[in-house]
Amino acid sequence: MNGSTSTPTPTPTVVEVTVCDNYINGEYIPSSTNEYLDVLNPTNSKIIGKVAISNSKDVNHAVQIAKNAFHDESSSGNNGWSKKYTIKQRAACMMKLHSLIEKNALKLAQLIVLENGKNITEALADVAKGNETIEWACSLPSLACGNNLKVSSQVSCEDRRDPLGVVVSIVPFNFPFMVPMWTVPIALVMGNTVILKPSEKVPLTMNYTCQLMKEAGVPPGVFNVIHGTKECVECLIDHPDTKAITFVGSSPVAKIVSYRCRSLELQPPKRCTALGGAKNHLIALGDCDFDTASSDITVSFAGCAGQRCMAASVLLLVDDDDDDNNDNNNIDTSRLQVLVNQIVDKSSKIEAGNQPGQMGPVIDEVSYRKIISYIEHSEQNCDATILLDGRSWSNKSHGKEDGGGGNLWIGPTIILHSNKDDKTMSEEVFGPVLSIFSVPTWEDAIEIENKNPFGNAASIYTSVGGNAEWFTSRFRSSMLGINIGIPVPREPFSFGGLYGTRSKYGDMDITGDGAMEFFSNRVKVTSKWPIVRNGKRGPSSSSRKRSRDGEEETSSKAQPAEEPKDAANFAGQM
Ligand code: NAD
Repeated sequence: MNGSTSTPTPTPTVVEVTVCDNYINGEYIPSSTNEYLDVLNPTNSKIIGKVAISNSKDVNHAVQIAKNAFHDESSSGNNGWSKKYTIKQRAACMMKLHSLIEKNALKLAQLIVLENGKNITEALADVAKGNETIEWACSLPSLACGNNLKVSSQVSCEDRRDPLGVVVSIVPFNFPFMVPMWTVPIALVMGNTVILKPSEKVPLTMNYTCQLMKEAGVPPGVFNVIHGTKECVECLIDHPDTKAITFVGSSPVAKIVSYRCRSLELQPPKRCTALGGAKNHLIALGDCDFDTASSDITVSFAGCAGQRCMAASVLLLVDDDDDDNNDNNNIDTSRLQVLVNQIVDKSSKIEAGNQPGQMGPVIDEVSYRKIISYIEHSEQNCDATILLDGRSWSNKSHGKEDGGGGNLWIGPTIILHSNKDDKTMSEEVFGPVLSIFSVPTWEDAIEIENKNPFGNAASIYTSVGGNAEWFTSRFRSSMLGINIGIPVPREPFSFGGLYGTRSKYGDMDITGDGAMEFFSNRVKVTSKWPIVRNGKRGPSSSSRKRSRDGEEETSSKAQPAEEPKDAANFAGQM
């Protein structure tokens, strides 16, 4: 990232309380409510910031500013982000932003550690992955050019992508930099102006990013940040001048947002893509490489304290030994027991903290209680065995040494289930919890994955290519992995779960070419040009002839224009 090989300091030594006001028209301005929520450092529960709560007045102001910055309709000619700046100039701003992000990656990562609780390596990865989308957005001038084709004699069609106008991005707490950058740079390069609504739990990272946007030359009003909660989101959706909404967050809210965008009361209904939660399944066959699989699975479920929509959640072990002559019918189960032991062993060595390799706290009290309640439910009501109990971390004093609360620590937890109907096996826990369940056949494993109401990610661990293909062609989820626990399709591949499941409401993937499509309208131009010479319409192409050197000649006697004799020429007749 910045070339340094020494271990970066997770948090700056002096931490002040940062006030996160809205960023509108290139300036930080307080919301009209003058109300703020506390922002807490989850590591020690100390107050590190105040975040503005915005209402409809603030939203109206932000939208008006963003609308003017898009294209000022009061003056004629080329003005505003969408017209005065070419797509190349807009991409050039993002190139500057990309290099500013690289330069300031450590500062951004320290803010992420501070407000989200990730370890410093994870925080730097959050920044690097966000910057990958910026990099992809810089290639849009090559990717977004339209098509042009002569579709019949004298008739050509071309298409181009026009921006939509003011677009809105609503984001969750778990990747304070990467998730906002999934949408913002693509929307901007496509010519839209943007209003971003960060999570009120982690507003500091985007508060600082506003400065970098300004330094990168993004003009006032083109990128705006408005802080707030439910009311603010509803006003952004309902405002007649916001043209499209992207949302990433929990499934219940994704559903509310997408339904509100498509409500018949909203005229016209709004373009929306809304990514929700996940329940990702990993399947391990007896032929997989236990050593690499156990490391990979541990990182997948415990990394970022399990607060990743791509985190492993359920591990299905397949005992598929059908050799009747085999004395030991449980050979694969016992082999897979080795895999389980290795996962438990590696997970138990993870320490609490924000240094590389350590595991941070979960985000807040609500999240903490929810995770604990799932573990208790499985243990008390569903006869599950807790192979590794992360609840023991509550007795430790993480974050308390400097006078903080430090009550949000849960260590890696591994549950061996005996009941596949246990809700911990099917609902999103969003914490460092791995559910393990054994099944006798490949079909049983696929059935469990397919029946799950989510459709985000799934992965198969095997050393046999044909076995891998059997699973990847049957999984229901739409981001699949082979021997990889976090199968994030990196740029230029697009990111998004399966439409019609709790993982995705609304259309399109949130990055890649899906986002290019989402943030633009395709305008199609069909043209037919007659030949006019000396003020007279010339002959049709059929009566033109060519001289010996290839020059086109027309007969001296101009002919009336003829309709081309092309049966497929429907232009002007439909
Ligand atoms: P969340 O749904 O609580 O909040 C997301 C955003 O919605 C925030 O900006 C919040 O202020 C706003 N919001 C909250 N309640 C609202 C309401 N009732 N009406 C309108 N807006 C509301 O999600 P979170 O807890 O911040 O993030 C964690 C969730 O996000 C997990 O479920 C995780 O799986 C999901 N997530 C999904 C993906 C993905 O790609 N599918 C990526 C990251 C996170």
